[in-house]
Amino acid sequence: MSMNEYTLNQIKYQLKRVLAADGFYAHKLEGIDPDSINSKEDFEKLPFSEKADLRDAYPLGLAAVPDEEIVRIHSSSGTTGTPVIIPYTKKDVEDWAELFKRCYEIAGITPKDRIQITPGYGLWTAGIGFQLGAEKLGAMAVPMGPGNTAKQIQFMQDMESTVLCATSSYALLLAEEIEKRGVRKKIHLKKGVIGSERWGEKMRARIANELGVELYDIYGLTEVYGPGIAINCEYNTGMHYFDDYLYFEIIDPKTGEVLPDGELGELVITTLQKEGAPLIRYRTHDLTRIIPENEPCPCGRHLPRIDVILGRTDDMVKVHGVNMFPGQIEDVLKQVEGTSSEYQVFIDHQNGKDKVTVFFETAVPKEERKDLEKRVKEHFKSMINIGIVPMAVEIGDLPRSEKKSTRVYDYRY
Ligand code: ZN
Repeated sequence: MSMNEYTLNQIKYQLKRVLAADGFYAHKLEGIDPDSINSKEDFEKLPFSEKADLRDAYPLGLAAVPDEEIVRIHSSSGTTGTPVIIPYTKKDVEDWAELFKRCYEIAGITPKDRIQITPGYGLWTAGIGFQLGAEKLGAMAVPMGPGNTAKQIQFMQDMESTVLCATSSYALLLAEEIEKRGVRKKIHLKKGVIGSERWGEKMRARIANELGVELYDIYGLTEVYGPGIAINCEYNTGMHYFDDYLYFEIIDPKTGEVLPDGELGELVITTLQKEGAPLIRYRTHDLTRIIPENEPCPCGRHLPRIDVILGRTDDMVKVHGVNMFPGQIEDVLKQVEGTSSEYQVFIDHQNGKDKVTVFFETAVPKEERKDLEKRVKEHFKSMINIGIVPMAVEIGDLPRSEKKSTRVYDYRY
């Protein structure tokens, strides 16, 4: 990305604030003079920050404002150990609502819509973000929170919800349940706003067809407001993001080198307006690319775009000396007729060699499965050059989850 005068000025302003706040950035950026940052090149010499840094600042070491200005905290869903606490000022909460409202608008959602929100509420940023945006837009929020599928489907009918906000796996579960109950005709959904994770074209097509909706990927992370910082428009050419609030970079996850637009790497975010907990060069570990400016979106919006999230840099696994990430597994399965979008991969080490077992769901009759497995094996060899053990299973045999699904299990270490 190029860096304009506005961005540079905001970065300087943010640097001054975090240095004055004497929080963890004061230590991290010690000796750096904000007024010496006068170009993209200067900026790119600043150190990255990591989730581990944020964790070390527990509980409120990230705060860049006096206590009385903090109106709320959220916490990121850490796997184990100390959580990350993100303090928000009143302006941060309002800005987040504004960003989310813009996302809904890009998805063509209006004040006439009724938005059923199934992500969780509480310390997690998801549910309340979807709600803030809906209210700012003037739409009607139906704040269900997660789970209780029977009640979800009842409310969906009775409230005549037109928009469903969910993770992809929960949207699929709801779609399957609606089909099972035969209530499809009583459902008024038009659009689905789905938390961006790698979910593949096949799964997208299944959810879209079974629910009869248009789907939108919405991106975000608790450390940077929450969901609602990027979304695709109706042309589905990647996710538009808001460069008046955020500066995005793509780096090589191994070397930290900033990559040119168009190249795949790790997304790094700098916040330009955040007060409670500004972030400078925060490594998201999400794999994507910035779409080059010479590929404008047909919608005509002058907002930059990133591609959908292709996976996590942490999920990259090395098998037989080849780097592989979950998105590629979906791409391979997509090429093989007869496979469904659901899969799981187990990697272990046997007799001195890596063994990769790929379970995938299929509706083809049992007698044709040997042939299907053979084709899946051949495609893995030809497309990503790894040998696998293919295992076809019935539709519905692999676990569905209301959370983001983990699909690759590495048992080698
Ligand atoms: Zn567009």
